[in-house]
Amino acid sequence: MTDYWLKELRRLALILAASLLVGTVFELPGGALVIGLLIFLGWHLLKLRHFARWLAHGYEPEPGFSDNIWSELYYQVYKLRERGRKRERKLKNLVERYRQSAAAFPDAALVLRRDNSIEWMNEAAATLLGLNLVRDVGQRVDNLVRQPDFVDYLQSGEYAEPITLKSPIDNAAIMQIYIVPYGDNQRLLIARDITKLHRLEVMRRDFIANVSHELSTPLTVIGGYLESLVGKPRKPEQIEQALRQMQQQTERMRNLVNDLLQISRLEMNEIQEEETDVNVPGMLHGLLADARMLGGERHHEFALEVDESVWLHGVGQYLYSAFANLVRNAVQYTPGGGRIVIRWYAADGGACFSVEDNGIGIPPHLIPRLTERFYRVDTGRSRSVGGTGLGLSIVKHVLRNHQAVLEVRSTPGQGSTFLCRFPPSRVVPKPGGAEMRLVK
Ligand code: ADP
Repeated sequence: MTDYWLKELRRLALILAASLLVGTVFELPGGALVIGLLIFLGWHLLKLRHFARWLAHGYEPEPGFSDNIWSELYYQVYKLRERGRKRERKLKNLVERYRQSAAAFPDAALVLRRDNSIEWMNEAAATLLGLNLVRDVGQRVDNLVRQPDFVDYLQSGEYAEPITLKSPIDNAAIMQIYIVPYGDNQRLLIARDITKLHRLEVMRRDFIANVSHELSTPLTVIGGYLESLVGKPRKPEQIEQALRQMQQQTERMRNLVNDLLQISRLEMNEIQEEETDVNVPGMLHGLLADARMLGGERHHEFALEVDESVWLHGVGQYLYSAFANLVRNAVQYTPGGGRIVIRWYAADGGACFSVEDNGIGIPPHLIPRLTERFYRVDTGRSRSVGGTGLGLSIVKHVLRNHQAVLEVRSTPGQGSTFLCRFPPSRVVPKPGGAEMRLVK
């Protein structure tokens, strides 16, 4: 038995003994005992009433409580309440932390009630769905986002798959919406901006369509020639011509596959080849010889102006490929007899490679699109000269990997200049003076 009970029993015994004593003196022991018991009971009833009030309204421990059983009761209940309050504070903090993290969430998050009204939303919901953080809480979400696909999805109750929608505030933006049911008929709606992903997906689809198209044309030509040869008697010159055509188409496919492989390596930033100090002047002399061969019988006039003292830190193989693509384009898009000038010089602390021609030129509004994969100003013309439509895209990637930029100046009918500007960090100065050597 605890102390309090013993004390309580002792107190009762004391009252009874005192009542008995007084009752004996006054020769009314029975009555005195009853009065004593009533006093004891009355005191406890008073205490009980106080206790009930305190339970209903009080929060502090019974002031001045001492060693009676009531004080112990007050104390135990007070302890229970304190424990409950602590747990409540902990829960509140947890909920607060959860709300803060959900508020900082980059995706829109909304808690919906059974009737589709918004119970809570984060800031991203306001920006992505155009909702008002204060005014729209309590409103039905299907009254605020009224797109029929969204309303159908919300009402369907089938939330295994997300839906994709145009953003209600920006027609160019694409959103993906998920609904996750939880708890007692509540749902969490998450909306995510997938515009970039969507664009990448469209690009990927276009790319595959373009590659298939580019490959299917030479295959159709080869197939056609093979069909015309199989099982039919042909003159040797006819056979020779067919073989030549097939060889040309095979070459075209090989160029395409090589360009594609190069682009994919460059896009993945896979410069496995080691960067070295590249002798660009030496490289350009070789390039000039190649360009003359490419020009063939068309008698272009070539000039090469080179600053022999400027080398470049980078990947020689890729730089050659970029410069060769620009020179090749100048040759292919400049009619016979035209003039092509290749320059390599120091500029603004960096270095510049340029190819200038007086060929067909490019309409100014099309210049920004030139480095897109498979973009050609005139597809027929590009194909007829063996172009893949990937050359300038390769140039762009090589330059990007060397922190350089491409500049294009062109006037239709007068000619074009393509410049590659390399930053000072890429330049390797070589002794020998900065004189320009002109080779014709
Ligand atoms: P292509 O294999 O078709 O040459 P590119 O990516 O190298 O592909 O070039 C893209 C397009 O840019 C070409 O099809 C052509 O229309 C245009 N172009 C590139 N260089 C020149 C140039 N020097 N003069 C005129 N047009 C050019």
